[in-house]
Parts: sequence; structure tokens; C-alpha cells
Amino acid sequence: MSASRPLFTIPAAPLVPILGLDEGFPIHRIFCVGRNYAAHAAELGNTVDRVAPFYFTKPPTGLVLDGGAIAYPPGTEDYHHEIELVIAIGAPAFKVSADDAMKAVFGYAVGLDMTRRDLQNAMKEKQRPWDIAKAFEDSAVIGAITPASAFEPAAQRISLLVNDDLRQEGHLSDMIWSVPEIVSHLSRYYHLTPGDLIFTGTPAGVGALRPGDRLAGAVEGLQPITVTIGPAA
Ligand code: MN
Repeated sequence: MSASRPLFTIPAAPLVPILGLDEGFPIHRIFCVGRNYAAHAAELGNTVDRVAPFYFTKPPTGLVLDGGAIAYPPGTEDYHHEIELVIAIGAPAFKVSADDAMKAVFGYAVGLDMTRRDLQNAMKEKQRPWDIAKAFEDSAVIGAITPASAFEPAAQRISLLVNDDLRQEGHLSDMIWSVPEIVSHLSRYYHLTPGDLIFTGTPAGVGALRPGDRLAGAVEGLQPITVTIGPAA
């Protein structure tokens, strides 16, 4: 038995603008790395080791482009910002070495891993999955992608202002797992595919947001992002 056409249409993930190109970057999957900056892990009471990076995912339809407003999400009273470098995968990669991993990287963007921290803490305590804390509508914000030919991750500053106050600050060189190490490690578990995004973890300074807050995120050398928190959904 097979079906000929869809019963209804469903929303698609947005096309992410690419610096210097008319085409947009279509989204396949969203992977996120947990605890990749020691100072951020410490502020949440976690110890950091280099045993292995760990991952969680967000639905592609949870992605929203920067520049507008996103609703304060339901079910939380502790809605947090996490500013992150995002890797955009542009070529297939499966079981690649760190040396070969960069061939699969199309480019980079600034992103926000929005988090319902109270729900995450409750799930952690019960050793349950984090989905309800991490994978929800408008939970991933992204700015325009800069091609890898114009940006090489090194020690660039990553920062987030909320209402013009500096909340998060670090350097990409603070990442426990580097970009090639993350791509290589993740490719042991997935056939990485063009259209995959990888959020690479957040520096210290995460904190709660309120409706009306204005966020301005940056990674030196990439397109900065802005987003406003709207009224509760
Ligand atoms: Mn994160």
C-alpha cells in the first residue's frame, strides 16, 4: 500500500540566509552539544570531563530566523538564553576523522539554544529525557550563515547582550570539543547530511528572560543576531 499525496500541508523549517548567495540553506536536522564550555558547566553545577561530548536534538520546525520576536514559551518560569556558534553541514560525513571533518562544513552562524531551565532541572533530577526543556517551538534561533571560506573558528569572542547588558561572554577557544572534533565524533553515530546544523554549546552567563527583553548575540567575524521576547504564548 502506498499514498499518492499528503492529506494536509505542514510547516517547513525556514531557509537560512547565506552571506553573498541568493539561495537559502535548507534545514535537515538540528543537533546540539551539551556542556562544551567548562565555565558554563560549572555554573549549572556540573563537572566537566573530556570523556565524550553528548548531544540532544531540536526539531527543524523549532528553528526561527533572527530579526523578529519570539513568544515567551508555555510551561516555564525560567526561560533561558544560550548563545552558541552554529556549524552548518554542507557535504555528507560518516565516520570521518577530525582531519577530514572540515570538508563537510559549509559555514557558520550565530545561534541561540533557548531552554526551559526549570523543566530541564526537573527532568535531570528524575533522569528523564530533556526534550520538553530543549525541543519546543521557536527553541532554536539562527542568523545568516557565513561560508567557511570566510570564517575559521579560532579564539573569536562570543557574546550576548540582554537589554544592552553583557550577560554571556567567552571565546571559541574555550570550547572543550573543537569544531572538527565535534563533527568527527557526531559522524560516528549519524550519517551527517547537507542541511544538518550543530549548535556547539554555550559559554557561562546563561540566565532568565522576561517578555520584552531584547537580545543581541555575536561571534566576532559572523553576522550578529537580534531577537525580542514577546508576550507569553
Ligand atoms: Mn546549549
